Amino acid sequence: MEQELLRRLPKMDRLLAHPALAESGLPYHARKAAARAVLDQLRANLHSGAAVDLPGLDALAEAAARTAQDFCRPSLRRVVNATGVVLHTNLGRAPLSRRAAQAAYEAALGYSNLEYDLERGVRGGRQEHTADLLRALTGAEGALCVNNNASAVFLMLAALACGKGVAISRGELVEIGGSFRIPDIMARSGARLVEVGTTNKTRVQDYAAALDSGAVQVLLKVHPSNFKVVGFTQEASLEELSALGRARNVPVLFDLGSGALRPGGPWPASYPTLTESLRWADVVCCSADKLLGGPQAGIAAGRRAAIAAMARDPFARVVRPDKLTLAALEATLRAWQDPEEARALPVPAMLGAGPAQLEARAMALAERLSPFCPCTVVHTQGQVGGGALPDETLAAWAVELPAGLEEPLRRWEVPVLGRVHRGKLLLDVRTLLPGDEDVVAAAVAHGAGGEP
Ligand SMILES: *Cc1c(COP(=O)(O)O)cnc(C)c1O
Repeated sequence: MEQELLRRLPKMDRLLAHPALAESGLPYHARKAAARAVLDQLRANLHSGAAVDLPGLDALAEAAARTAQDFCRPSLRRVVNATGVVLHTNLGRAPLSRRAAQAAYEAALGYSNLEYDLERGVRGGRQEHTADLLRALTGAEGALCVNNNASAVFLMLAALACGKGVAISRGELVEIGGSFRIPDIMARSGARLVEVGTTNKTRVQDYAAALDSGAVQVLLKVHPSNFKVVGFTQEASLEELSALGRARNVPVLFDLGSGALRPGGPWPASYPTLTESLRWADVVCCSADKLLGGPQAGIAAGRRAAIAAMARDPFARVVRPDKLTLAALEATLRAWQDPEEARALPVPAMLGAGPAQLEARAMALAERLSPFCPCTVVHTQGQVGGGALPDETLAAWAVELPAGLEEPLRRWEVPVLGRVHRGKLLLDVRTLLPGDEDVVAAAVAHGAGGEP
């Protein structure tokens, strides 16, 4: 029986000649691979008994066409972020402004003066496109851009603390996201980790004692972005470390990671800022995506000599930013020069969205979705994300749908990702971009079995 069915399996050629495949407009390599995959699967199913009959040629060709379509779909694609987490590391952190995306697009399509000085007609430096802007915006003497903040921290330690003892509080020996562990990074950079204080309490005297012992020549502070120790706690402030560093003539380095560029704006008031940190630390490192809503990049800013030493270090070449990053970063920094334009950048706009605005948006979305499934507007809590202020939540409004819609929405042409909470699927409107409602409506209509 099985043999008989296997014999009647259509030949590759017949399947490929079927209009559903042949006229699909998909490239030949994908059609062929899909036809083979569908036939192989059917063969395996007949063997195992999972299939006991042959589907018709039309059905097979249609299945192969869908598979071919899957093969052609880019792996990295746009999704709708309805999680309410603004800087979602798994979803690519910051959406860029049109201006920043356009700058990257133009840099990508053609040649550019990436490392060419157009005034003088000689070789130039790639850092020059962003260094002045960074200095002007932060007030720092020097600034350097690298490909992410992990690189900035590593380069800072490699260039300024290699072979030296670096004091760090036990409460700040953190792991940030997948496998960025401060102790491991320090070991690789050649810096010698000297733990001071305890997990919950570290005083400036602990650092002073480490300096007294002779084992320490650098002070490091790390902003524990993604966790919080509560209760009986104490830490030395950056200001205190700065005073100690100055008194003992040792550098103070700070991994800020996330935070705000300057005080004010839509960031929560408890956010540490880059401009303030630069008053106290010799070098401050941060993520351009977390801090500015820009492209993935790391920024090191601080004293002229320290930044110059980092730029000279051979490792700087290993972590240098590419032209797309620099183009998008320059455009983002230019936006930050104008308060109005900065507020309109996608990330600040999402963080700054007011309760009334969010509620109205959630109501409008719920109304649009209500013909397809039961849905209500709920008041919940969202997060900034990007490892920023774990204990700080944002007042959020979401549309609550049956949890069964989670999978169909995730599998939609443009995947829609929400948050499952207490057996319901929440679509948080804070992180929706203009036009995302159309995608959500089509996905829900399809997922709920209605007409899009
Ligand atoms: C996010 C973060 C990092 C890592 O930055 P990436 O840009 O993800 O490389 C390092 N340190 C701190 C404190 C952070 O918040």
